[in-house]
Amino acid sequence: MKTYRIASIPGDGIGKEVVPEGEKVLQALAAKNQDIQFEFQHFDWGGDYYRAHGVMMPADGLDPLRKVDAILFGSAGDPNIPDHITLWGLRLKICQGFDQYANVRPTRILPGIQTPLKNCTRDQLDWVIVRENSEGEYAGLGGRAHQGHPIEVASDMSILTRVGVERIQRYAFRLAQSRPRKHLTVITKSNAQRHGMVMWDEIAVQIAKEFPDVTWDKELVDAATARMVNRPESLDTVVATNLHADVLSDLAAALAGSLGIAPTGNIDPERRYPSMFEPIHGSAFDIMGKGLANPIGTFWSIVMMLEHLQEPTLAKLLMQVIEQVTANPSLHTRDLGGKAMMTEVTQAVCAGIERS
Ligand code: ATP
Repeated sequence: MKTYRIASIPGDGIGKEVVPEGEKVLQALAAKNQDIQFEFQHFDWGGDYYRAHGVMMPADGLDPLRKVDAILFGSAGDPNIPDHITLWGLRLKICQGFDQYANVRPTRILPGIQTPLKNCTRDQLDWVIVRENSEGEYAGLGGRAHQGHPIEVASDMSILTRVGVERIQRYAFRLAQSRPRKHLTVITKSNAQRHGMVMWDEIAVQIAKEFPDVTWDKELVDAATARMVNRPESLDTVVATNLHADVLSDLAAALAGSLGIAPTGNIDPERRYPSMFEPIHGSAFDIMGKGLANPIGTFWSIVMMLEHLQEPTLAKLLMQVIEQVTANPSLHTRDLGGKAMMTEVTQAVCAGIERS
């Protein structure tokens, strides 16, 4: 019997609702497959923890996480705490502490889901966006001076290191190579950002030589938004810096039908540390406590977690069941225009696993 230790960090808002639903799905998979089990360790970090302790997570919080096989995360965000505190104090602390430098976001239109794109069929939109997750525009460098005075200044410095760019681009080329189309689009902005992004472009040319079977092209980030809308079928795997990919991946989620569906993995490809999986949506306080949250983003994140844990059969099984459930409009939550409650979706997924 193989035991996977999973750290469960629901965080804030609907994260506290969807992560327990994710645990139920993992338990349903374990009940189906007697060779594995999941052992959960729960961490109550987030906004409420901050109100009680003045920090989003303890200073030594990474220590217990070091021992787990993977982390299931909900969301961090609280209407009464500044966003930079909730973000830097928890999610980024884990991502950066564990050098989870590849943020991977698959996007597809699942069966039964409507895309806002006119005339776009399901097979025309199948992307994976790879976001540099450790430096770039979100390196955290910069500062403020003369606060409150007319001469106040503020700066944020984007940092790109050769090692950081090489490793994320190599990861993206390798991922592109593993997909049927073997095509990578490298997002840039080297026309305006004429230092870091120029190095980014040069490194793409260099890394591409290691992957002669992968075709690739370069696209400015602004042009990429239009291309996602007008020619979705021209994209497959995409790699971009922290900020650029942050924006593009939210657009991708919206084009695929709902923020409530999209998953992400914060991955340490070298497996030195645990990787972390989470739905891309935030805490959504407007629907919190009402049972309306769509748990599919969490379930798809679990598919990514299972792939990372090298359980491809279980990952495939769960993805098939998720697609059966989304194909049924009576199981759509409100964000998809339906009336189903979160727990009904979970029950349908667990029942589908049991039946499989
Ligand atoms: P944060 O500040 O934590 O990033 P937010 O509340 O500003 O979060 P999101 O949670 O990313 O923003 O989503 C915006 C809106 O989309 C929410 O207010 C909610 O109405 C809807 N939404 C997001 N996720 C879901 C979901 N899983 N199910 C249903 N609706 C959702």
